[in-house]
Amino acid sequence: MMKWEQVIGLETHAQLSTKSKMFSGASTQFGAAPNTQACAVDIALPGSLPVANRAAIEQAIRFGLAVDATISPRSVFSRKHYFYPDLPKGYQISQYEFPVVQGGSITTRVEANERSGLGVYEKTIRLIRAHLEEDAGKSLHEDFAGMTGIDLNRAGIPLLEIVTEPDMRSAAEAVAYAKTLHSLVVWLNICDGNMQEGSFRCDANVSVRRPGDQEFGIRTEIKNLNSFRFLEESIQYEVCRQIRLINSGGTVIQETRLYDTNCGKTRAMRSKENAHDYRYLPDPDLMPLIIDGEWIAKIRRSLPELPNAMRRRFIGQYGLLEYEAGILTTSQAFSTYYEQVVSRVGIANAKIAANWMIGELTSQLNRDGLNIQQTRVSAIQLALIIMRIVDGTISNKIGKKIFSTIWHENASDEIAADRIINAKKFKQISSSNSLDTILDEVLAANPKFVNEYLSGKDRVLNALVGQAMKATKGQANPQQVNELLKKKLS
Ligand code: ADP
Ligand code: MG
Repeated sequence: MMKWEQVIGLETHAQLSTKSKMFSGASTQFGAAPNTQACAVDIALPGSLPVANRAAIEQAIRFGLAVDATISPRSVFSRKHYFYPDLPKGYQISQYEFPVVQGGSITTRVEANERSGLGVYEKTIRLIRAHLEEDAGKSLHEDFAGMTGIDLNRAGIPLLEIVTEPDMRSAAEAVAYAKTLHSLVVWLNICDGNMQEGSFRCDANVSVRRPGDQEFGIRTEIKNLNSFRFLEESIQYEVCRQIRLINSGGTVIQETRLYDTNCGKTRAMRSKENAHDYRYLPDPDLMPLIIDGEWIAKIRRSLPELPNAMRRRFIGQYGLLEYEAGILTTSQAFSTYYEQVVSRVGIANAKIAANWMIGELTSQLNRDGLNIQQTRVSAIQLALIIMRIVDGTISNKIGKKIFSTIWHENASDEIAADRIINAKKFKQISSSNSLDTILDEVLAANPKFVNEYLSGKDRVLNALVGQAMKATKGQANPQQVNELLKKKLS
């Protein structure tokens, strides 16, 4: 079997979080009745003129600064001509030779599959550019038998198109990049990241070549992938298709393909148009976009701490593993929750706090399909649970019970943990007297373990501790039980 190298470049459309459209004052709110949010500019009434949206430009600059790109002091809006019923002007306003953001890069962590033998590794993907453009309208095929409806609410919504170099070498790398980009634009508050509503969608450019080849192979472009799973599956399918095609003597043709999510295959949509087919030309209705250093500096000052910097800080400040810090910084809300817990339990217990969030909290959120903003145990409530474990009032196991109780009660009191400990008499049995009696009973009931332990099998002690914890319904301190048992058996 001859080896092949996969080459992937992504173009991502991130819908910017502005109130009004890229070149008009119409609302961008999702879900309105068709054509109720399309003004004269959006439906291209003669004589209407576009005006660039300042907020959208600022968001593009925010992005550019966050990825260490160059912000162009002068960029140009161009008309990209093509005909489609959902494009009333006959052209889309975009940016061509002079995009607002040039260069930059995104570093991601790739969790490769076992077969590749690469484990987890870091990879930096270079960006070519990011430019501002407007979205097109939407064709509605389902509601009209034999006809197509047109909804222009989406026409003119601001998009930032982010284009990478062909730097990715597997579907796993493409997905890792897309996830990092997704959390970055949400983090920067420039995109709501809602993939079901189409706020973040990717086109994947895919080709294959022999390892060591200087030239890239001919690529196909898979359009409009709106989930990470589809992105991964469609690239895997397309790579196999191209290899099979070449191996059987065929050649790949440059074309645009669609991913059919029902059968898991890509199919040809149209042959790829070249740039000259679009007759790009500067839009005479719009002035060149001039961005001065003062404006950039002001936006730079407003940037939040970025995920990569925060991850490094968490590792240094709290002694977390790379992996833990990575999870805690997947979103701003998650990292804020974490630092709130740590501010209460203290840095000495930062690791325990991380474990609780990555374990118990995450699994409850996943089980109920909630995000961190919808959590039913607040940072303050979790902090108190952890403090009660650390100060020996309750065991870890009881801590989990209390966590689950607060979750299901959806309790809002800050001292929920203490309230439940008192109400349910969850305090650890630590007074030696009562524990003494219970331990004697455990020893009497387990002569086999006792004999084995006495004949030198130290590990049997764990079984006895387990029995004792059961007898106390988990309310004893395992450490203390361990020590008392050893004393009794010595
Ligand atoms: P176009 O303007 O026609 O879309 P670009 O040259 O701007 O083409 O590239 C678009 C995307 O395709 C970029 O993300 C780029 O990295 C990627 N790309 C270009 N050539 C290849 C190739 N041979 N294989 C895979 N991806 C490619
Ligand atoms: Mg393109």
